[in-house]
Amino acid sequence: ERSKLKRLKTAESETLDGVKIELLANIELPEDVDAALEAGAQGVGLFRTEFLFLNRGDMPDEDEQFEAYRKVLKGMDGRPVTIRTFDLGADKALDTSRHSTNPALGRRAIRLSLSEPKMFQVQLRALLRASRYGRLKILVPMLAHASEIDATLAALAQAKASLREKKIPFDEAVAIGGMIEIPAAALAINMFLKRLDFLSIGTNDLIQYTLAIDRADEEVSHLYDPLHPAVTMLMAHTLASGEKAGVPVSVCGELAGDSSLTRLLLGMGLRQFSMHPAQILEVKQQVLKSDVSELTPLVRRILRLEEPGKIREAVERLNAPPT
Ligand code: PEP
Ligand code: MG
Repeated sequence: ERSKLKRLKTAESETLDGVKIELLANIELPEDVDAALEAGAQGVGLFRTEFLFLNRGDMPDEDEQFEAYRKVLKGMDGRPVTIRTFDLGADKALDTSRHSTNPALGRRAIRLSLSEPKMFQVQLRALLRASRYGRLKILVPMLAHASEIDATLAALAQAKASLREKKIPFDEAVAIGGMIEIPAAALAINMFLKRLDFLSIGTNDLIQYTLAIDRADEEVSHLYDPLHPAVTMLMAHTLASGEKAGVPVSVCGELAGDSSLTRLLLGMGLRQFSMHPAQILEVKQQVLKSDVSELTPLVRRILRLEEPGKIREAVERLNAPPT
């Protein structure tokens, strides 16, 4: 049994018809790199940097952040590492003295970073300084407006200029991408494709905002349905648009780690999955026994279904071994 597990860990992640699938880890602290490597992750698809803030009263300064980012990049030893800028606010509040009437719709994530330019510059400089130690990609959470993307790119250019001035080296070509987690972003995807190097679908928030279900409210959790046709429609549209434009799209929400949905996602065109390290081998098992050319037309038909119950049944059939 153990040698079987070991073989699974080292097996190349590709489908029966030879399509390579990237399985990446979501991490919250630099220490999580060990678990990611242990699970055979091919990189880090999401480092939630706001966890550097939580459980402490103040902000980590530039050097402290630089050390944390460098540790992850060095630990992943040349594998791609996607680090997300702070997603503070809402459920990850820093300043609890200020109460937004509706925190999930308030000044969180990129909105907060753009309204605190000094804090944002500190993080961007720390990220750029760390970029020499591996393959860094910077990911921006909660984008909804083209102007937010443009302001973020301008902030990054400013951070680069300040490092150049001080002759501090960094990777000039560091990639910058955006989270697709607000329905508006998925619907107006072209403005993202034009401006960014890659996209990552955050299904946790995308479901929350599409269905108007607070992801942390147990009273409505029975309505939080990843297979609601509106959700699959937005995901499929994002994946197809990325493919057409030649912009890579990953999924880094909890959906990517749900092995009962792996085949659905493969059939939708997903090739990069980022998840909690504990899910990687289970998802890999699904990948190894799937055939993308077989799944693609089946999933196209599933995506035309309108009843959640029918969709769920069809997804279950997709997973059932052929009789
Ligand atoms: C998401 O929204 O799916 C996501 C990956 O981000 P977080 O869970 O940190 O909000
Ligand atoms: Mg999110």
